[in-house]
Amino acid sequence: MANILIVEDEEPVNELIRRNLELVGHQCRSVYDGKTALTALAECSFDLMVLDVMLPELDGFEVFKQNREQPTIFLTARSGLSDRLRGLTMGADDYIVKPFEMLELLARVEAVLRRTQPKRNGFEIARVRIDFDSRRIWRDGVETECSPKEYELFETLVINRNIALSRERLLELVWGYDFEGDTRTVDVHIQRLRKKLGLEKQIRTVYKLGYRLETEQ
Ligand code: CA
Repeated sequence: MANILIVEDEEPVNELIRRNLELVGHQCRSVYDGKTALTALAECSFDLMVLDVMLPELDGFEVFKQNREQPTIFLTARSGLSDRLRGLTMGADDYIVKPFEMLELLARVEAVLRRTQPKRNGFEIARVRIDFDSRRIWRDGVETECSPKEYELFETLVINRNIALSRERLLELVWGYDFEGDTRTVDVHIQRLRKKLGLEKQIRTVYKLGYRLETEQ
């Protein structure tokens, strides 16, 4: 699962790419011109950018020149051999010639991600990503500030996903056996997590017991 920025001014093409990438589990953000792409890149980090060369105002090369931090696949016109060479010379990871088959795009995206993305020790649910190694959480690609207890509570829910955990059990797991507070602490932290991460639906209240994180995985 990767966080992908799609920069393509033709809306139906942009939409098609986004839908297909989301279908295979990636989270995507669509932008339709070069300037907005730079703003998006400044706002958050992406694992990959699919970047059309021909864009209004600021073209794809210019966007790439100003931000090369993430792996990039250029979309180029069939006639533009020089465009392809130029993109690769500039350091792009790959290019795809338009019009292209969606399967080809997906294969190229996976290939680039395999090369560039180290195996991640984490989990993703409903556009929220948690990384166990760095103890960080992202929502829609933007890092979410969490207190250490909020992080630990969410990590515990993720590790025990689809299992109902009593408030007492959560207290033990997250706060430790010798914690003096009561189970209201759990409720307060759950409320905060739901709101911060937008997981009101996924973090379920289990009647008279506690909570359960519901996922499909
Ligand atoms: Ca275009």
